[in-house]
Parts: sequence; structure tokens; C-alpha cells
Amino acid sequence: MTTVAIAGSTGSVGTQTLQVVAAQPDRYRVVALAAGSRVDELVDQIIAVRPEVVALADESRLDELRQRLPVGVKTEILAGSSALSDIAGVADVTINAVVGFAGLPVTLGCLAAGKRLALANKESLIAAGPVVQSVRNTPGAELVPVDSEHAAIHQCLRAGRGATDVDRLQITASGGPFRGRTAAELASVTIDEALAHPTWSMGPKITIDSSTLMNKGLEVIEANELFGARAGTAGVGIDLERIEVVVHPQSIVHSMVTFTDGSTIAQLSRPDMRLPIAYALAYPDRFPTPFGAIDWSSVGRLDFEPPDRQGFPCLDLAYEAGRVGGTAPAWLSAANEVAVEAFLDGRISWADIPAIIAATMDTHDGQHADHIDAVLDSDAKARRYAGSIVGGNPSPSGVV
Ligand code: NDP
Ligand code: MG
Repeated sequence: MTTVAIAGSTGSVGTQTLQVVAAQPDRYRVVALAAGSRVDELVDQIIAVRPEVVALADESRLDELRQRLPVGVKTEILAGSSALSDIAGVADVTINAVVGFAGLPVTLGCLAAGKRLALANKESLIAAGPVVQSVRNTPGAELVPVDSEHAAIHQCLRAGRGATDVDRLQITASGGPFRGRTAAELASVTIDEALAHPTWSMGPKITIDSSTLMNKGLEVIEANELFGARAGTAGVGIDLERIEVVVHPQSIVHSMVTFTDGSTIAQLSRPDMRLPIAYALAYPDRFPTPFGAIDWSSVGRLDFEPPDRQGFPCLDLAYEAGRVGGTAPAWLSAANEVAVEAFLDGRISWADIPAIIAATMDTHDGQHADHIDAVLDSDAKARRYAGSIVGGNPSPSGVV
């Protein structure tokens, strides 16, 4: 029996993780849940899975959570932003499905406890790359990606076995809802249009990131951290310039690895996050799921095209931050979080998002990211700067 902790249990990846685990009751037992503020959903989950411990980040809703739990529920309740670190190391596997930089304590806490981290929360790895790399060396610690592209590359590398023979990684992108639009058309897109992803059903932040191609840019940095030279022996020694993005509108090929002899190995399945979630839980095993298999007679065709780098400048902003390294990815990710929140609040237009990120990146102070304090400081500074452009009252990162 493998014990599982789910951080971000009330979100899109979190609820799908509960479905995967519920389908395998003899293999997995959920011992911990963590959420931000959605108490209604959390109460239902506590009643359904009876975890040993729950963390609620929004302390102001703690009394409401306690009052709503039926008598006899023995779950220990923790609250506040530090509660996330407390649950991070309690299970054999922790799924980090928190959105944004707020997921950092889960990533660091789980790896420092020497446990398996099933990582959906890409922002923590991107913002704190060097710090995460060092805790990744903790004996017993293991990082298995949940992000579908990285789960695909993980599988392709296993299939290829020759880690030293990798020439390049190809990360696929659906292209989002605005693929093929002209600059004039992109200037007037609405929030609802940006939230209507053509192939994946996901939480709001990553859906907007997909519409700007920032999600793909973040995934390039994520792949560099997971598989690149910086990952040391966990990686395949590849550099950022050999991590490419290719648009594949059907979202069936989830990413590819091309080897030095010219062969490419790809991973294909239906676009359903329950598949990479199950993979990260079960690795190196696989277990039967009803989620991913394709009826090949109905696929028809698979298309590939280059990304539109002019219309979607977030992609190159991310490459540039990845090249600069240090705390530049932390600035990029923080500025993006502030801009996406402002767009979803209706304070800025979709086309303002890359402009705000670019302006914030121009103020990057070149700080190294060798210590957690430098990462927290960079996140705060970038948030302040981007916040001063968008106006309103941007949310804090949630990490103290
Ligand atoms: P959602 O917005 O659907 O869910 C986010 C979760 O994080 C919720 O449970 C939310 O709690 C919780 N949360 C937010 N802030 C905090 C906080 N300060 N402390 C603790 N918990 C918090 O996001 P997704 O599930 O879409 O995405 C989660 C992560 O996975 C992101 O990093 C995303 O990039 C990545 N990812 C998602 C994919 C998808 O298909 N959705 C695919 C690949 C990667 P509450 O709602 O209770 O406030
Ligand atoms: Mg992805």
C-alpha cells in the first residue's frame, strides 16, 4: 500500500488525482490533503477519503472548516501558509498540484524528506531551480513529472535508454485557442475566449498560460531543470537550445526525444491528465487505467507546425529567462502570475500580458538563485514591479 499526499486537492489536477487513487483502492491510501481556500470541496474530500491530516492555506476559513466536519472525523487540521510544508513529507508520494509559486514549500518539503515528488506545480521548479536541484540530491528523494509533456519525455528516455545519445527534446504544444490568429485579431480577445482551451480542461491560470504560449515557455525551462545539464546525473546533459517547441493541435503526441542517430521516440495517448498522474504514482510500474488508450481508427491525422513567435512573444521571453538563469525564471514566473491574475480580473487586456512580463524582466537585477532567500526576494520584487504596472492589489505569493 502506497501512501499519497495531495497538495492542491481541490483543483483540476488534485481532483483528477483523487479519481486515479479511488480507482486503485488496493494500491493507494490518501493520508494528507492540502487546499487554498475552497472549504466546501475540501469538506467533501475529507469525508470521502478520511485523511490523517489536512492543510488549509487560508487561515481565515479554518473555523468554518472545523464547524463543517461531521462529528467523529479524526483528521488533524493545520492552517496557514506554513502548513503546506508540514504535509509535504508525510506520505510515500506527494502530488504537488498547487498552482503557482505558492507550491514551493511542497516541492522543497517533499524532496528534503527524501520522498517521491509527483510534480504538476511547474512554477516551483522554474522559480527555484538551483535550490530544488540541491534538495533533489537528498537520499531517497525522487522527482517524477506529472506535466504531460515531461511525463512523455520521461517515458521516451526510458524507452531510448541511451541517455548520452539524446540530440534534442521536442515539447509539443496544442497552440491554444488563438492558434493562427493575426496580431489584429489577438488584440481584442476576451477572457472567455482565452479560457476556452481546445483540447485540455485545466485550471484558469494554466489555461491562460496556454493561450499566450507562456505555458510552453515555462515548460521549456521545466524540461531544462528536469532533463538538462543542470539536473546532473538525473538529466541527459542537454542544453536549453536543444529543447524545441512544436505545435501539434491534436494533443495526442505529448512530446518527443530525438536521438543522435536521427530516430525520434514519442509518447502518444488521449489528452487526459489522469494518465500522467497515474504514471507518476506507479512508476516504474504501470497499472491498467481506462483513461488514455486511443482508438487509432478514429484519429485521422496528426499535424505539426512551428510556433508563431511574433504573435506569442511569451515563448521567447521564457527562453531568454532560461538562458539568463539564476533568478531570471523566478522573475518571469512571478510577473506572469501577476499579469494573468490582472487579466482574469479584467484589469488588463490579453495583449498586455507579454508587455508586462517584458517590462518586469527589464528590471531583473541579476541576483543568483543559490539560496531560498534569494528566490523569495526575487519573487517579491518581481511581483511588486509587475503589480505597480497593472494596478489593483495583486495577491501575495502565499509563501512565507
Ligand atoms: P487549479 O487552479 O485547478 O487548482 C489549484 C489548486 O491549488 C487548488 O486546490 C487551490 O486551492 C490550491 N492552492 C492555490 N493557492 C494555494 C495556496 N496558497 N496554498 C495551498 N493551496 C493553494 O490548478 P490546476 O490543477 O490546473 O494546476 C495546478 C498545477 O498543475 C499548476 O502549477 C499547473 O501549471 C500544473 N498543471 C496543470 C495541468 C492541468 O491539467 N490542470 C496540466 C499540467 C500542469 P483552492 O482552490 O482551495 O483555493
Ligand atoms: Mg503541460
